[in-house]
Amino acid sequence: MKIVLHIGVYLLVTFFFCIIVDQYVFSPKYEFLLTEKFSGDKICNPYKSINPNHYTPANFHAHATLGFGLFNGKGSANEIWNRYSQMGYGFHSVSQYQHIDKSFDTAKNYIPVYEHGYNLKKTHQLIINASHVTWKDYFLPQTLANKQTILSQIAEDTSALIVLNHPDLLNGYTNNDLKYLKNYDCIELLNPAANSFSQWDTALSNGNHVYAVGNDDLHDIHNNNQLSRFCNLIYAPTKDAKEAIASLKNGSNIVMWLPQVTGETIFEKIQKIKKSNLSLNNIEIMHDNMHVNFVHPVKSIDIFGQGGSLVYHGNNSLHVTVPFSSDSSYLRCVFETYDGIKYILNPVYRYKHQLESRNFIASTYLKKMPGNDIFSLILISLWIVFSIWYLSGVFPLFKPFSFRKRLLRRV
Ligand SMILES: [Zn+2]
Ligand SMILES: [Zn+2]
Repeated sequence: MKIVLHIGVYLLVTFFFCIIVDQYVFSPKYEFLLTEKFSGDKICNPYKSINPNHYTPANFHAHATLGFGLFNGKGSANEIWNRYSQMGYGFHSVSQYQHIDKSFDTAKNYIPVYEHGYNLKKTHQLIINASHVTWKDYFLPQTLANKQTILSQIAEDTSALIVLNHPDLLNGYTNNDLKYLKNYDCIELLNPAANSFSQWDTALSNGNHVYAVGNDDLHDIHNNNQLSRFCNLIYAPTKDAKEAIASLKNGSNIVMWLPQVTGETIFEKIQKIKKSNLSLNNIEIMHDNMHVNFVHPVKSIDIFGQGGSLVYHGNNSLHVTVPFSSDSSYLRCVFETYDGIKYILNPVYRYKHQLESRNFIASTYLKKMPGNDIFSLILISLWIVFSIWYLSGVFPLFKPFSFRKRLLRRV
């Protein structure tokens, strides 16, 4: 019995030793080069001409029951799909942890999604349009290099859009991380657990063209209070999955922040979405000015620039003009309509020659550093010595190391 106990302790210690060493010693190291702030003669403007009739609500983050209820989701994938469909959403993915739900994979608005991550600090990613599940993760609080390693592995799925989930939750992604990280596409700006505006502005201010999404991150489809808090307006005239992916890729989506009313019925929620009026006509850039034009006056508008600084605030606005000179890097708008709904737009920003792909940017600004082989060898040697010492009291094979056996007899 004692032997079983000793072997159990040895295996447990070995398991934790392997986790720690894999994460902090053997994991890849990088030299992170800072990208410069957005600059150049060309301008990316995702809202040159928009048609509100071509936008549809979308939620990409909802958990159903999985693994006998072990994964913090209540309700079935069917219930999630049907409920969001009933509320008028054009896209409504079921995002399980480490699992792609394929219940509705024949529908033309089906988008395969899963949530990646099983670690203490909830450093999670939402993988939209995923072709397979990436299993690698680091369980303990992650270093910047750990986070980059995971993102780079997920990014090998080139068709997938990678979203950093709820960055502000438990500091899963810090502002400093967002200065350097590459190989992702979007930030989950709005999530019931965290709003992450400063992380987004940090990424943008350091020249990373990443866009915003907002999701319910629903864990119980039977709780109406978890529904329709945050959503995305996706440009998709025919409600086809390919259009939705393209909209997210080029930043023409809009994040919608609906006022939270506790105890609201499904009918009231449906009415709130149905009656909402985006009001945005377009955004134009002319003669170093940005013009934001609305169809109806909006209650208020805020415009933010480099470093997340507020550059304009207005009330009851129909047309707004702010300078966007050649030394301005980006401008992004948040406006509120009279029904209390806030709309968060992606940035209008400068670039030089062409918008590079995420893989190209990653290969330019990330340099993998060689591992420290001598240190690794010393660690492995120490572990072998420890193993022989510990097991010497358990197995006759290690008899020569009898000092351990004597020690164990005294226990
Ligand atoms: Zn999460
Ligand atoms: Zn989640």
